[in-house]
Amino acid sequence: MVLPVRGDMHINLQTDEGVVTQHVREGEMWLLPRNTPHSPQRPDPGSAGVVIERIREEGVLEKFQWYCLNCNHLVHEVELQVRDIVVDLPPVFEQFYADETVRKCDNCGAVHPGKAAR
Ligand SMILES: [Zn+2]
Repeated sequence: MVLPVRGDMHINLQTDEGVVTQHVREGEMWLLPRNTPHSPQRPDPGSAGVVIERIREEGVLEKFQWYCLNCNHLVHEVELQVRDIVVDLPPVFEQFYADETVRKCDNCGAVHPGKAAR
């Protein structure tokens, strides 16, 4: 569940047809369909929101995926046990951003721009 309380936000949803953007305005509430790859974005400086997620139980792994911006093919995937998003996630993202070889699409050869794609 996503609830922006100051500023708008949007969630990029990965679909078979490519990225679909779901806008959620300040004060609105939106429920993410289960098992939908997504990337929440808060472009407004100073924005704030409430996100309620399921309990991360031990043994339940989560996937982090990046898709080709050119052909929508899965470029890279990391699966891990997330215990603390503040501690566990930055290294996963930094590893993807730092290594151009894992950002290259096996399907079309395009290189994912990494952090610049956000
Ligand atoms: Zn591609």
